[in-house]
Amino acid sequence: DLFYRQVPKVELHAHLNGSVSFETMETLIKRKPHLNIEHSTTAIRRGQRRSLDECFQVFKVIHQLVDSEEDILMVAKAVIQEFAADGVKYLELRSTPREVTETGLTKQRCIETVLEAIRQCKQEEVDIDVRFLVAVDRRHGPVVAMETVKLAEDFLLSSDGVVVGLDLSGDPTVGHGKDLLSALEKAKNCGLKLALHLSEVPSQRDESELLLNLPPDRIGHGTFLHPEVGGADSLVDKVCKQNIPIEMCLTSNVKGQTVPSYDKHHFQYWYKRGHPCVLCTDDKGVFCTDLSQEYQLAASTFGLTQEAMWMLSQQAIGYTFAPEPIKQRLEKKWAELKQQIL
Ligand code: IMP
Repeated sequence: DLFYRQVPKVELHAHLNGSVSFETMETLIKRKPHLNIEHSTTAIRRGQRRSLDECFQVFKVIHQLVDSEEDILMVAKAVIQEFAADGVKYLELRSTPREVTETGLTKQRCIETVLEAIRQCKQEEVDIDVRFLVAVDRRHGPVVAMETVKLAEDFLLSSDGVVVGLDLSGDPTVGHGKDLLSALEKAKNCGLKLALHLSEVPSQRDESELLLNLPPDRIGHGTFLHPEVGGADSLVDKVCKQNIPIEMCLTSNVKGQTVPSYDKHHFQYWYKRGHPCVLCTDDKGVFCTDLSQEYQLAASTFGLTQEAMWMLSQQAIGYTFAPEPIKQRLEKKWAELKQQIL
């Protein structure tokens, strides 16, 4: 639908390596024929579903394909250009810094290379403002988490405002947030904004109770926070009292099978409460979607008007980790475009 492509949008939950498009993946597969990777293993197409566990296997395959500075630069530039082409005007990209001995890739260079991609896109006047969140993979435990926070802190000071925060992600069935708490507290104290995956699976209730005390600046998914799905009133209370925006990824949750169908998505619960919700893609490459499609799906599933969808996109400006002048610039852009589009 042209309307949802034209609506200016804000993307706040996008994992770099999950966002690699079909076309870019093709190039990567051709570059590394010895890996013998079939394209069908890196994307979950329409009507297909995988378990959450199988989704995490997909990332392992993609990480084999993206393992050098050259790969990261290509992938990051392509992902940014694709979001821009879909009408995304402000993007917060997140990625887990990795080390690959064979290619000489270091965690530091990982981040620097993404920042270089952002710089190049800006220079080429791609119409999008891009910021970066350094991601902590919970699977790697507290020591690595602390190292990653220190790295993120360095970039917070040296990246001219491009690095704005920290993400906590990775397989939600592995590890416990209590072991990561001191790293997350340190991140918060040094001024990094926190975007934490919370309650992606039902077993994370205690963890969410704990992490919500930080509190995070935004919540990723939050699928099992509310009592109707086995969460708890105490969790909902904390989220509401602190008014913490929730990043919602409809297709990702349906294809990853943590949500049974679009109409059962927890977007409904939180949106009806008037709680800050922001629609996001999560992994547009892996889940074969884009942000305008997610907007359209939300509108058709929950019967929302174009005006309501516009509001949703505009309100997301307020949930970004961008400094105030950037938010004001975005508000102005939205106001100008509203007259042409709506
Ligand atoms: P990367 O951080 O750029 O390498 O993007 C892929 C990584 O993002 C995966 O290895 C996971 O750690 C994380 N990720 C992507 N999607 C999800 C999700 O739905 N839940 C939790 N973590 C995720």
